[in-house]
Amino acid sequence: MTTVYDVLVVGGGVIGCSIAYQLSKRGKNVLVLEKNQLASKASKAAAGMLGVHTELNGGSPLYRLAQTSRDMYPVLAQELKEVSGMDIEYVENGMIKLARTEAEAQTLLEVASKTDEVEQVQWMSPPNLSACEPYLSKHVTGGLFIPRDGNVSAPKLTESLGLASKRLGADVKEYTDVYDFMIEGNRVMGVQSSIGPFYASETIVAGGAWSQSLLERVGVTLHAYPVKGECFSVKYSKKLVERTIFTEGCYIVPKPGGRLLIGATEQPNTFDETISAGGLMDLMNRATSILPELSYAHWERAWAGIRPQNQKGLPRIGRSGIWEGLSIATGHYRNGILLAPITGVLVADLIEGKENHQLHSYVGSF
Ligand SMILES: Cc1cc2nc3c(=O)[nH]c(=O)nc-3n(C[C@H](O)[C@H](O)[C@H](O)COP(=O)(O)OP(=O)(O)OC[C@H]3O[C@@H](n4cnc5c(N)ncnc54)[C@H](O)[C@@H]3O)c2cc1C
Repeated sequence: MTTVYDVLVVGGGVIGCSIAYQLSKRGKNVLVLEKNQLASKASKAAAGMLGVHTELNGGSPLYRLAQTSRDMYPVLAQELKEVSGMDIEYVENGMIKLARTEAEAQTLLEVASKTDEVEQVQWMSPPNLSACEPYLSKHVTGGLFIPRDGNVSAPKLTESLGLASKRLGADVKEYTDVYDFMIEGNRVMGVQSSIGPFYASETIVAGGAWSQSLLERVGVTLHAYPVKGECFSVKYSKKLVERTIFTEGCYIVPKPGGRLLIGATEQPNTFDETISAGGLMDLMNRATSILPELSYAHWERAWAGIRPQNQKGLPRIGRSGIWEGLSIATGHYRNGILLAPITGVLVADLIEGKENHQLHSYVGSF
């Protein structure tokens, strides 16, 4: 007998896995189809920063959503440890946004003025900065300390959400390429894949940067484009920074075991995942200019990933306006790890037909 799932999720990145986890928790019969392995694309490449203020400020429509999502992490990390047995390496280590010029300092002070009191952001003068992060370059104008931002291991988070979904009853099929939809009238009934057809009451496309090409099969246009990002990591015997250090064009994220993760380049309109010497040299120059001792660290590895971006610069989360039974969750660009928990909840609410004011204020149909 053919199984008809309640919900079929295309894509086993952090967004697809977070949606699968929330729906499985609510007792839905979920299937995840992933072309490669879970956590093999952007969600493997990400630095894992939970930076509400890295590129958003109090005026951005995403700000409240990002804050809510980041604040879900302490409970989510605990839940995932219990259900999947995995540690996602969540820490609330704070972030410092560095100013290297007076103009950058002015911009950061404006960011601080739009930030609510709950965040307890503090402006740090160069002597204060040196006192708490002694290895930072002395040629900085100051920094904005954001104590409540944190970081996780992005691949472990994604794997753990996938594993927890399985433990709660979801089916997960890797190496399964979805290449078309099954349609009856104006309803999507399921998908055609490299291992055969699958049927579901609700189909959700969470295929990251590859969502657009699949959705074209049913005439849905997202106005999306890929943005390649390169990173590298090193190891050092000394702890060079306690907090994540963020500047325009470069960030340094401390990870367990003396690892430092340095990112990330930005190259739009390519799906090429190879690493360029120019991109890495540029990152190394930027990183050593703010943390000179990084030059003595031991090389670990470099990698690249493809971020899903939209022309409007906002994620696309919602039901298709054309097809019944079809929803979309993609376009999280540089903030997919930060926004994964709230996206899972928003989409689960959407599928259950629940009112969610955050959904109304910001999510659209396509
Ligand atoms: C270098 C870099 C650093 C980053 N750092 C951060 C950070 O510090 N903090 C942060 O919040 N965000 C960060 N991001 C952004 C974040 O990684 C992304 O926003 C997020 O991973 C997107 O998740 P996703 O599930 O939409 O996409 P993906 O992780 O790309 O997953 C999509 C999945 O769908 C699968 N798929 C696609 N099409 C099909 C199909 N037809 N059939 C079956 N499967 C399919 C793909 O194989 C893939 O596994 C970073 C990104 C990069 C590249």
